[in-house]
Amino acid sequence: MVPGFNTSFMKDSATLQYPGPANDNEHPSSGRIQGSFYTFPYGKKETRTVKVGRVLLRSNGIFGQGPLVMLVKCVCEGSGRCVWCGKKLVLKLSWPSKTRASEKTFMYDFKEKATGEHAWVLNHLPEIYYSFDIDFSAESPQAQLKEIFGEEYKMRVVRGIIMEKLNPLSSLETEREYAQVFYDIVQCHHWAWKYPQILHRDISEGNIMVREKNGQKYGVLNDWDLASWLNTENEVSTSKFRMGTRPYMAHEQHSSDWQGPHQFRHDLESVFYIILLLVSLYSSPTEKPFFSGFNSWLIALQRSLLYGYIGLNMHITMEIDAQQARENNEEPMEVHYFDDDTLGGHFSYEKVVSVMHQFKKEELNTRGREWQKILQVPFQEVKPSRSDFSSRDPFSTF
Ligand SMILES: [Zn+2]
Repeated sequence: MVPGFNTSFMKDSATLQYPGPANDNEHPSSGRIQGSFYTFPYGKKETRTVKVGRVLLRSNGIFGQGPLVMLVKCVCEGSGRCVWCGKKLVLKLSWPSKTRASEKTFMYDFKEKATGEHAWVLNHLPEIYYSFDIDFSAESPQAQLKEIFGEEYKMRVVRGIIMEKLNPLSSLETEREYAQVFYDIVQCHHWAWKYPQILHRDISEGNIMVREKNGQKYGVLNDWDLASWLNTENEVSTSKFRMGTRPYMAHEQHSSDWQGPHQFRHDLESVFYIILLLVSLYSSPTEKPFFSGFNSWLIALQRSLLYGYIGLNMHITMEIDAQQARENNEEPMEVHYFDDDTLGGHFSYEKVVSVMHQFKKEELNTRGREWQKILQVPFQEVKPSRSDFSSRDPFSTF
């Protein structure tokens, strides 16, 4: 169990049956945990206690495989004694391996870079108030397993994060709001990749949240637990597990032959699947589909991916042929460079932004100076026709 969790059901065998009483829209464990108290270390000597509210997310399967996310309140709520009082807080508990960087670490990097003309990005990143790790005790089963398996065995910790409550994607009301949020996510993802050089690696519907601030809605790219710094060996190569969430994972990553590395274009491809699923799941054939405005985005992004993958496959085939030619001492074959990061330029940030900065032919909010400059010339002049996604492609006539 989680050290520091104080619930009534743990002390009363009669309430230990599963599932607990829950309302339709609540997680089965909600009724069980709701109202309990959780005490965690704060700094080196102090502790803090929060009162647990509704469970927002709990992965099925073994406790400890995925995060447990719940609403919490500071126990001194109302007295105004601390900075958490009166704030809508969320507690996320997870069980990562001890060496995995905490989300909070990535947030430090973000805040350091998000100054001046980059400050806009803070609207699109989660606000983490506090983060703590608790080691399992020396008597725990995992400490004993470690003794047996040594290096092979990855020690895990209980990791808690207290963060600002954000709204889910489903809180949005119009097509255009959805479009803006998706566009925000792409801009935020690009910024994180380019400046602090952090790759998110787990884009899913559940990781896209909404922040309401001064009457405006902002797309927030949440859940950076699987993120990594670019060009570092950190868990990418050592983990046996693929990053990402099905069904949003990039096509290439579903193959058992796929060796990585995880690139930004895989995350952008996930954005495409999120929109595709949203549009197809929430549009009925008899009604005028609510999300019909996304069709032109989807066609453009699908085309970019298609051309890109055709290019990639041609490139791979040519490399094999060139190798064959060398082995047979035949006339050498020249294989042109293919930019794998962007699928030969077909699926780059520029390409995706050029599709997503407009919705139903109207301009969305472009947040950063950088894209604002780029989009003024020459993108703005590109006519919003079928050719708008292929204007820069040497291969667009495929
Ligand atoms: Zn308080």
